[in-house]
Amino acid sequence: MVNLKINGIPVQVAEGTTVLQAAKEVGVYIPTLCYHPDLTPFASCGMCVCKQENNNKMIRACSTPVHEGLSVITDDPELFEVRKAILEMTLSTHPNSCLTCIRNGNCELQTLAAKFGIREQPFESRVSKLRADTSSPSIVLDPHKCIKCGRCIQVCQELQGVFALDFIGRGDSTVMSPAASLKLNDSPCVKCGQCIVHCPVGAIYEKDETAELRAAIADPNKVVAVQMAPSVRVGISEEFDLPVGTVSTGRLYAALRKIGVDVVFDTNFGADLTIMEEGSELVKRITTGGVLPQFTSCCPGWVDYCEKFYPELIDNLSSAKSPMMMQGAITKTYYAEVSKTDPATIYSVALMPCTAKKYEIKRDDSMKSSGYDDVDLVLTTREIARLFRANGIDFAALPDEECDCPIGEYTGAGTIFGNTGGVMEAAVRTAYKLVTGDELEDVNVNAVRGLENVRKGEVDMNGTKVRVAVVHGLANAKEICDEVLAAKKAGDPAPYDFIEFMACRGGCIAGGGQPYGTDDQIRKERIAGLYNDDENSTFRKSHDNPSIKKIYSDYLDAPLSHKAHSLLHTSYTVRKKYNF
Ligand code: SF4
Ligand code: SF4
Ligand code: SF4
Repeated sequence: MVNLKINGIPVQVAEGTTVLQAAKEVGVYIPTLCYHPDLTPFASCGMCVCKQENNNKMIRACSTPVHEGLSVITDDPELFEVRKAILEMTLSTHPNSCLTCIRNGNCELQTLAAKFGIREQPFESRVSKLRADTSSPSIVLDPHKCIKCGRCIQVCQELQGVFALDFIGRGDSTVMSPAASLKLNDSPCVKCGQCIVHCPVGAIYEKDETAELRAAIADPNKVVAVQMAPSVRVGISEEFDLPVGTVSTGRLYAALRKIGVDVVFDTNFGADLTIMEEGSELVKRITTGGVLPQFTSCCPGWVDYCEKFYPELIDNLSSAKSPMMMQGAITKTYYAEVSKTDPATIYSVALMPCTAKKYEIKRDDSMKSSGYDDVDLVLTTREIARLFRANGIDFAALPDEECDCPIGEYTGAGTIFGNTGGVMEAAVRTAYKLVTGDELEDVNVNAVRGLENVRKGEVDMNGTKVRVAVVHGLANAKEICDEVLAAKKAGDPAPYDFIEFMACRGGCIAGGGQPYGTDDQIRKERIAGLYNDDENSTFRKSHDNPSIKKIYSDYLDAPLSHKAHSLLHTSYTVRKKYNF
């Protein structure tokens, strides 16, 4: 432990702690702009400048480790002026477009400008005329709003290992850009949106498609059917100032009906369906000598990464579509049939925590298995929250409502799809039944829970040992993919049977379409919200869902049947190969 003083307050912290972290421990605020707790401090902006007492040496709190006897002053008139000047200089290269900016109201630069009472711009304006890159189906890069904090580049390189973004040029002409000045859609970008949720300003954002939903609702010839992903129900609460981790399922159903949506379904049902198909596929691969390990395929960011960086492993991907795409396919087939609705009139919308999902609905022809686009539109949690606000919905005050049958009922296993380890846990609960014929007594599979980068375990299914691994954050996927690939090339036995991959740290609860400001504490609280919901569910295993039993008996026949294959499964493509 190290002893120091912050503004005269004695503090004892662990060695290696930074001044910024130590100040936080005693409730002292130090302003930051480029710093993000997920990332290695970049120390580019200078806002966290502090003084070492006695010698007045200026230090950057985010990147300076504490040492015994250190005494730090975090605020005085001189530090205030230095920070104000940094903000004024930053604003001199930033367009004054707050009123029309997507981050209006939640921009870190805007908040700091307000806090420091910036009322004029003493420095000559030097705003670049760079144009926005709209080539991606998911993400817009608007470099003329970029304040060059470096967070997006760090997250893409450190957390995701994708290296799609970089700073190009030198000095004043430095710009944030896809590496090698490519268009974003031609770069290795997997559309996870982590750059968006880490950007402090409006320089990277999701393609806003709220107008499309408004138009569909206003069209009397369309039946608007909306599904919502597991993690949206916990993320949306923060958009309406409810405590982090609050699960707002019933409120979401109610809010959707209030804005004019015709039928409300739940992607959790699609998640239960995914478990039936993916679990059966796993058992088939294990018992018939199929390609192992089987990789999960519900995360389009991960699937895009696998196709681009590990094309040699695409046979390991489960052929099961994601819960969103399964739900879309059965909305325009099974639901259309039982409700006697012309599928041509159904406008199928998915509320997702994810920007990559905007790409997934168009990734190939198997996404039109109903004969139409299975999902017409994807809106992120942030987009649907904006739409609710624009419609004057008092979200927090809404009474709970139920979703619509017959493809809305779900189990706790479907709910935990929203967090890292959840797909694996849900799969184990059902695979146990498929392999042994018995029910798993304790459904809490604690070995795969948590935020450790890679978690490994072995599940004993009455003598059949199933070796599993859970990976989140694409930079961590490299380690496991390299291990699997090396075994494959050497002709060695597969080192695992089943691996869950999620592109985003923490899983979809912290996806690129979720509320801003995520850190590990928030991830843990959102995850706890979903597990709590799981524990309180009537059914906690996908195969126990009465509506799942009914869709198989009435329509799909059995998991992996011909009909299930044509509606619920897909294939993969070798994309351009990228090396690290
Ligand atoms: S969306 Fe993901 S992969 Fe693409 S640039 Fe952003 S962080 Fe990188
Ligand atoms: S785009 Fe955003 S996150 Fe990236 S460097 Fe610019 S301001 Fe920072
Ligand atoms: S982890 Fe979830 S939110 Fe992130 S890219 Fe994958 S599906 Fe999207």
